[in-house]
Amino acid sequence: MQKDFCSCSVLVIIDIKITFRLIYKIGGKNVKILVINCGSSSLKYQLFDMENEAVMAKGLVERIGLPGSILTHRYGEEKKEIQAEITNHEKAIKLVLDAIVHPEYGVLKSMKDIAAVGHRVVHAGEYFSGSVLLTEDVMKAIKKNIELAPLHNPPNIMGIEACQRLMPDVPQVAVFDTAFHQTMPPKAYLYGIPYEYYEKYKIRKYGFHGTSHKYVSQRAAALLGKAPEECKLITCHLGNGSSVAAIDGGKSVDTTMGFTPLEGLMMGTRSGDIDATVITFLMEKEGWTTEQVNNFVNKKSGVLGLSGVSSDFRDLETAAGEGNKRAQLALDRFAYGVKKYIGAYAAVLNGVDAIVFTAGLGENSASMRESICDGLGYLGVKIDSAKNKIRGQEIDISTADAKTKVLVIPTNEELMIARDTYEIVQK
Ligand code: ADP
Repeated sequence: MQKDFCSCSVLVIIDIKITFRLIYKIGGKNVKILVINCGSSSLKYQLFDMENEAVMAKGLVERIGLPGSILTHRYGEEKKEIQAEITNHEKAIKLVLDAIVHPEYGVLKSMKDIAAVGHRVVHAGEYFSGSVLLTEDVMKAIKKNIELAPLHNPPNIMGIEACQRLMPDVPQVAVFDTAFHQTMPPKAYLYGIPYEYYEKYKIRKYGFHGTSHKYVSQRAAALLGKAPEECKLITCHLGNGSSVAAIDGGKSVDTTMGFTPLEGLMMGTRSGDIDATVITFLMEKEGWTTEQVNNFVNKKSGVLGLSGVSSDFRDLETAAGEGNKRAQLALDRFAYGVKKYIGAYAAVLNGVDAIVFTAGLGENSASMRESICDGLGYLGVKIDSAKNKIRGQEIDISTADAKTKVLVIPTNEELMIARDTYEIVQK
């Protein structure tokens, strides 16, 4: 009883301390938000000044826990590379914080100027449909979801716990990849398997890249001069990992990725949709373990497996240009998959105001956008090929008379995380 009271008092004091710091910082104008995205051996970060949403510094720690680890820190037009022994995520974050406040290449006087930290977390399961302040209960829920995202949630957790240790009185917020898709109706997210397995193991479609789909759908509505609630959009996040989402009135109603980020489109190295019995067939024929088969569908398949050339779309475009038929086949199969889902989602939405392309391939490959949109005339899609060649900016690449607009919108997941974090700590 006494112990409970003591720990309660400590919590209250910590809470008062955080609240006081927040009133001081958020009340002032210079709110700085640090965004952290932790992978298993890498860590990306961006520091935002929320007064004008400017990026003050950003960088990447690579090869955490491996020989040759390195931090690349960018501030303004400058870049600083720091080689160090970075054996774990805590050391990586410590190095990042030191760089941010460094007298020579830092951008803040003190770590105390950071008002909050926003963390990208991959899987929220069914627990959260929006971003949340990280509390003990939230951490427990994220840990429960490790079994749904064994490769992604553990490094996300390591990043959060390291920040909590290094900045104990700075509030931390979790922004989930799955959260935006929690608005999908059961008819979209349930698989055709006995319902008891949904109840028992929560086997269902979750969807990923939610922060990106949300960001580009909001920008698309702004470009169309409409409120998100008035728009029917199909957003295509095409990168190494790819997914398409159907967004009705600002809410995700369906998406191609599923229980894990394997389902849907064929990707760089992931198979995408596949008849499940191919797996059991191969396990029997090849004597593969579950690990081998997971490796096969996640790492050896996709455009890499089909082409035998590369998982990188630039390499495939080059090889296809030089006459490599399987590279061309992989590109055609990829474009066909995206087109098929655009058709499906136009039906789901009962019409579409705009198709949006984003991420590495979607933002940069004019030829991929052209082949996806080729044959979508029945939907009112008409591409202006001169506009389609412009790169690196938000642009409407459709002709003036096109009924359905085609937009290219560079994604900005970090800004979305910073905005959510800012909004939550303001509350
Ligand atoms: P992720 O974040 O999933 O790792 P990205 O969104 O960075 O992936 O996208 C990476 C993919 O985008 C790579 O396959 C790359 O080849 C492709 N890409 C980037 N620039 C171009 C380009 N100019 N033309 C074609 N593909 C490109």
